[in-house]
Order: sequence, then structure tokens, then C-alpha cells
Amino acid sequence: MTPLTEILIERIGQTGPITVADYMAECLLHPEHGYYTTRTPFGRDGDFTTAPEISQMFGEMIGLALAQAWMDQGAPTPFVLAELGPGRGTLMADILRATARVPNFHAGATVHLVEASEALRAQQAKAITSHRPVWHDDVDALPDDMPIFVVANEFFDALPIRQFIRDGRGWRERRVGVQDGALTFGAGDATPLKALAERLLDTGDGDMVELRPAQPAIVSALATRINTNGGGAIIIDYGDWQSKGDTLQALRAHEFCAPLDHAGHADLTAHVDFADIAAHAGTAKVSHMTPQGIFLERLGITARAQALAKSMTGEALNQHIAAHRRLTHPDEMGTLFKAIAITPANTPMIAGFET
Ligand code: SAH
Repeated sequence: MTPLTEILIERIGQTGPITVADYMAECLLHPEHGYYTTRTPFGRDGDFTTAPEISQMFGEMIGLALAQAWMDQGAPTPFVLAELGPGRGTLMADILRATARVPNFHAGATVHLVEASEALRAQQAKAITSHRPVWHDDVDALPDDMPIFVVANEFFDALPIRQFIRDGRGWRERRVGVQDGALTFGAGDATPLKALAERLLDTGDGDMVELRPAQPAIVSALATRINTNGGGAIIIDYGDWQSKGDTLQALRAHEFCAPLDHAGHADLTAHVDFADIAAHAGTAKVSHMTPQGIFLERLGITARAQALAKSMTGEALNQHIAAHRRLTHPDEMGTLFKAIAITPANTPMIAGFET
């Protein structure tokens, strides 16, 4: 039993079952025992690998797409270059490296990072050397008086979700309780829920849907800034157009495990609902949801992969080819992961996306 499991069993014993969102928040960000607060989980030795950790090409493509969008909008300076949930800082470092020769881009940019974990902030500071980043606890703290170009890769999937099980015309919220001294899932009383009223149309009894309570306000804060001052957002994550079914997943040492088994010692994520992102962008322009593989192909990842391959041999070349496949192939991250973009209503869409 992990220390956090003991804390949660005690708490649930005192005040009753907690929502899946509360459970997720404690597991990921508990100040002493949270997954992100106590470790740097990425890479081969960690629990999972993300696209920027697989290949530098991922950040290069995104950097060039953002720089192109910035030029399309008249190369405004100063501007904010922001990332939500930067992990080890690899993506932002690759973006900055790829854009170093874009005239005025670096001189005009201030780098802003939204990151909850102190341990990861320290890693990001080491990775990002060309600029001195400014860190924020949340999206609301990002500047709102200049253009903002922002990327979020696997940020939304780490935000807590609530889960609801359809029961007649109402929904029972899934909760984490205690049975026989162990954490266990249960369901509360059925209540009608306004936010899920339209999901009565495409679900049946017993179906599960998920809501991510923090997501609408974050999307809206970004979209308002983008639409008012210029800029753009590229959001990449695993998920689909609408949530359906139980997608809560726990990953430890690259293996799936039961979400309640290793509280604070496993990564917990859930699919991102892209329809919900599009619904909260207000009057800003939103692209089609685009599979990651197609998005990267449109940006020229294959030509870049071939150029890099020219100077490689042996195991390095094999790994490079495998990395390209992993990022783009439908059997790997190519279709499970999706991208969506937000731009001001009156500007061209970001490269790699169609509206
Ligand atoms: N984008 C990185 C890391 C993804 S992991 C990559 O692609 O490799 C999720 C990141 O979001 C971590 O940096 C984590 O600490 C951060 N994070 C999770 N929940 C957060 C929250 N509520 N507020 C701010 N950052 C958060």
C-alpha cells in the first residue's frame, strides 16, 4: 500500500467516498506524495514516453508551424511563446532550437510555462537555455496584453476527470470508496445533470461518459487571449471527438496497471474530449480535429526525417526510423493522438490544420 493510499483510506473513512477527479488530483499533485510533484516520470527509465521525448522532429515541426503562424500575423513583437505542462522542457527546447534563425522570433519572444510541479520546473530551467522562462501555476496568470502562441502536448489528459454512469434519465457519479480496507469504485445516487443532458441522445443505460471540469475555463482563457491580441494554440493529446466509455488509465514503468492500485506511484490520465475544446473557444477560429500522423506529415516530417537520416548509420538510424514511425503511423501514435488549433477569427489557420 502506498503512503497516499493510506492517507486516502483514512480521509474516505472520515468524510465519505471521493470523486474520480478528487482521486486523480491527489494522485498527480499531492504536495508530498503526488506523482508529478515527486518525480520526473518521462523517458525510457520513467513510466511513459511522450512525443517530444521520442524525437526532436516533433518539436521542430511545431516550432516551425508556430513561427509561420507568427509571420502570417505580421511578426508582431513582443509576444508570448507559451507551453502548458512542459514536462522535462524538451518540446520548448526543440521549438526554440528550430526557430533560432527565424528573424526577430527569438528577440520578440518571452517564454512562459504553466507548470504545477516544482521538480519539473527545475528540469525545464535546465533544458531551456536560450531564454529565461517565466513560470505560472495556471493559464489565468498568462499575460493578456500581447499576442500569445501556445502549445500543449499531453497536458489536458493529466487534468482530473469526473466519470458518470447513465442510469435512466439521470447519471450516477463514479466514486472512490473503501471496502475491506482497500480503495474501490462505487457509484452515487442518480441525478439529472445539465452538462450531460445532450449525452442522453447518444448513450444508453450503463454507458459511461467523462467530464473534465477544468478544461472549458482553460480553453476559454486561451481563446479569449488569442482572439483579442493575436496568436494561436496547438493542442495535441490522445482522445477523440466526444468522450464515451471509461478511459481512465494508469501507467507505471511502461505497463498499464489498475488505477486504484498504486496511488501516487503511477501516472493517471484519461482521453481528451476535443468536441469540448472546440465548444469553448468562443468566437476564435477552431481547426478540424486532425490525427497527429496527418498533422506531422502535412508539416513535412518525412522530408525532415530523410534529411536527418543522411548523417546516420547503424543503431542510431534504426532508432530514428522507428521514432518517425512511432510518431506518425496509425498503429502507433498516428491516429490515437489528435491535434487541434485555435487562431483569431480573422487570420489564416496554422499550417498542418484545415478549418
Ligand atoms: N508536455 C510534456 C509533458 C506531459 S505530462 C511532454 O509532452 O513530454 C503533463 C505535464 O503537465 C507535466 O509537466 C505536469 O507536471 C503538468 N501538469 C499536470 N497537471 C497540471 C496542472 N493542473 N497545472 C499545471 N501543470 C500540470
